[in-house]
Amino acid sequence: MKVVLPDSSELELPEGATGLDAARAIGPKLAEQAVLLRSNGRVQDLRLPLEDGQKIQILTTRDTQDPDALYVLRHSAAHLLAEAVRRLYPGTKIAIGPPIENGFYYDFEFPEPIGEDALERIEEEIRKELAEGRSWSREEVTAEEARRFFAEQGEDYKVELVDTADGPITFYTQGDFTDLCRGPHLQDSKPIKAIKLTGLAGAYWRGDEHNTQLTRIYGTAFFDQADLDAYLERLEEAKRRDHRRLGPQLDLFHFSERSPGSPLWHPKGMAIWMELEKIRQRENARRGYLEVRTPIIYDAETFYISGHFPKYEDLMFKLDVDGRPWAIKAMNCPGHMLLFGSRPRSYKELPLRFAEPTPLHRDELSGTLHGLLRVRIVTQDDAHIFCTEEQIQDEIAAVVDYARYLYGLFDLTASAELSTRPDNKIGTDEQWDMTEAALEEALKLNEIPYAIAAGEGAFYGPKIDLHMEDSLGRKWQMGTIQLDSQMPSRFGLTYVGPDNTEHELYVVHRALYGSFERFIGILIEHYGGAFPFWLAPVQLRVIPVGEGHRAAAHELAEKLEGVRVEVDERDETVGKRIRDSEIEKIPVVIVYGDKESDESLAVRERGGEQSTKSLDELRGYLATL
Ligand SMILES: [Zn+2]
Ligand SMILES: [Zn+2]
Repeated sequence: MKVVLPDSSELELPEGATGLDAARAIGPKLAEQAVLLRSNGRVQDLRLPLEDGQKIQILTTRDTQDPDALYVLRHSAAHLLAEAVRRLYPGTKIAIGPPIENGFYYDFEFPEPIGEDALERIEEEIRKELAEGRSWSREEVTAEEARRFFAEQGEDYKVELVDTADGPITFYTQGDFTDLCRGPHLQDSKPIKAIKLTGLAGAYWRGDEHNTQLTRIYGTAFFDQADLDAYLERLEEAKRRDHRRLGPQLDLFHFSERSPGSPLWHPKGMAIWMELEKIRQRENARRGYLEVRTPIIYDAETFYISGHFPKYEDLMFKLDVDGRPWAIKAMNCPGHMLLFGSRPRSYKELPLRFAEPTPLHRDELSGTLHGLLRVRIVTQDDAHIFCTEEQIQDEIAAVVDYARYLYGLFDLTASAELSTRPDNKIGTDEQWDMTEAALEEALKLNEIPYAIAAGEGAFYGPKIDLHMEDSLGRKWQMGTIQLDSQMPSRFGLTYVGPDNTEHELYVVHRALYGSFERFIGILIEHYGGAFPFWLAPVQLRVIPVGEGHRAAAHELAEKLEGVRVEVDERDETVGKRIRDSEIEKIPVVIVYGDKESDESLAVRERGGEQSTKSLDELRGYLATL
């Protein structure tokens, strides 16, 4: 048989040859360095047989930055972690251990809880394994064999995984450790040149808080020590910027055990929120959106009509009102549908763009809550655009233009993912051709780079997911633009055309910040708390040197109308108060002493620059920031 190599040349191999055989046929060096096989975008274990005519690419230890190569390296590292833990802590049960972005984890049930200090010891044990060397072997087994194997060892989680597995069951073994695993894995542990256990967290078995809480050990691994060092440095920077730390430290918000997942916004956090809200209102008005307001709670019937029940029922908080089932809205669409349907609509009213930022609630599992990034209260900059089929193209293009404008304000780089027709689509291929083209055209027009997620659209329409890259190069999923004709028809909505008959109505669901909560969380990390002047909660702080300067400091603050000014008149030394404003990342600080007056102010900028300005000069200067 023949396989096709990346340069399109063909390689003749005996029937049943594996990826490793292919590597050997090319050269012994390649066979030694091979870590993984990639075929049509899919990864394949080197130990598996190849098919005639298969296109293959062999990844090696030189593909140090390739996500798939790193993925297999880290997956194998996760198995080393499990082996080490089982040896060091007899009686520990093992659960799952997948590779993830930037690393891997493994979940364990320890007989006694362990602390962060245990990580070093475990890491030491893994290093021992690496020094001894490990190689992986792969074996297909029956479900019965797998169940017996793990039951004998008291590995209840593995037994459960066997019972719920579909497809063939495989074991991967290194040393005296065998794991239930789909693979793929490295040939041996030689390519793992750098490994680090990065943290410890609680994690419920299968993510369900009703299940046992397990201990999750996070780690990462690389082909090269220098790559690990660079990664750890980025991690440190991300930690310094963590919004969960900076939020309370900068007095922006906090969380209370009384309402997990719902931030309590402090005045300074609200200052940021209100700046975002101002932009939302201004741009909505400029772009022809109409602000509306709809109820927070509805009877359950509403969500059956919209289709959110029973599909999203678990994600919604439910109520009992007037002896009937109700729910708190987790999305605005139903309200906007009711609003649109309050009277017959003519084509002359379209497009009609309803915008609403009322809070939504989602019953996220407590174990999955994460600062402002995953919350139970979600305040979207939501809108629904009702339009005719002919208007789709222009409306989508306008929304993408809006998104590009908005993200540009924050120096965030946008990219997109276009999800196209899934297998269970409704509607004709012609309709899908038209709607997908409309979305794609909008992205091209706005020069937003995009990837196609084939088959990932909802059954009723294609969608655009907007991603942004922050100052640390991390990608965040932000807004979505979703085209839909299904929900209007579920609510019986149409419009009357020029021909006096009813026509099919389309709706575009779109949120661009995504939610205020999440967006602010990301902005805090993006800026590391050092917000640009226009967004900073406190833009300027006046520090009166002594008690006698307090009145003048307040006078100055009043003269700076329109600027968010604070006077720090605490009984601390000037030096301490200057340092504190540096920690709080205040953009401009003025120390007011004997020498200061409206003609001469000592201005200190964030970043260290100092100058003397008159009040008028200062006003002019602040206006440029
Ligand atoms: Zn595995
Ligand atoms: Zn919607």
